[in-house]
Amino acid sequence: MLKLHESQGSDLVSAGKRYSDHYEGSPAQQYLEHRGLGQQAVKFKFGYVSAPAIGHELYRGRLAIPYLRPAGRNRSVATIRFRCIADACVKAPDGTYLPPHRERHEGHGKYMGLPGHPPRLYNTSALLTSKSYIALNEGELDGAAVEGADVPAVGTPGVSSWRDHFDPAFAGFEVVFALGDGDDAGRRFAAKVCEALPNAKAVDLGDGYDAARFIHEFGTEQFRERLGL
Ligand SMILES: [Zn+2]
Repeated sequence: MLKLHESQGSDLVSAGKRYSDHYEGSPAQQYLEHRGLGQQAVKFKFGYVSAPAIGHELYRGRLAIPYLRPAGRNRSVATIRFRCIADACVKAPDGTYLPPHRERHEGHGKYMGLPGHPPRLYNTSALLTSKSYIALNEGELDGAAVEGADVPAVGTPGVSSWRDHFDPAFAGFEVVFALGDGDDAGRRFAAKVCEALPNAKAVDLGDGYDAARFIHEFGTEQFRERLGL
């Protein structure tokens, strides 16, 4: 019998396709549009788990974030992460969305990954940029937002997910912008990246701001200015 952690890329491609087919008109679309990420959905093939693939029942109702990898004409999917967008967690009692840093995910993870899948880099295609700089974000959705500001951006699945073998991927860039959330954990993330990468530069976007929120509220020009571009 196939164990979950042995599930192969082709299964993930079809699961990812199923979820992105169910994105249109879903709560995932509403959520991402609220965060100003609606336009990034096609490029990053964000999805919604309304009909889970076998073994994915735990992720029902979550936003699906596939880790796309270039693979010939079709893109393969290295893994998928699932973000909680339950009303009880992301909305206030009056039905309006809470800012991401005020969301309440009690008793469960805001994000869930597939069992046996180690932390990986998100949006690795960005590493092939001809630009001399790249952004490294705490979180996949921030990476997607930063790409929308025409800055190549890779994401990591959270503050504590940095692995030593990620380091060499960033050698050769003049500068790696380390973009953590505007809180203690985010600043620890940026400091950790700066420790690991000699070419990294921490950019603080202010208390309570992650890159997606900053870009959504202040626009791409002001974001690029903040990076010194
Ligand atoms: Zn939740």
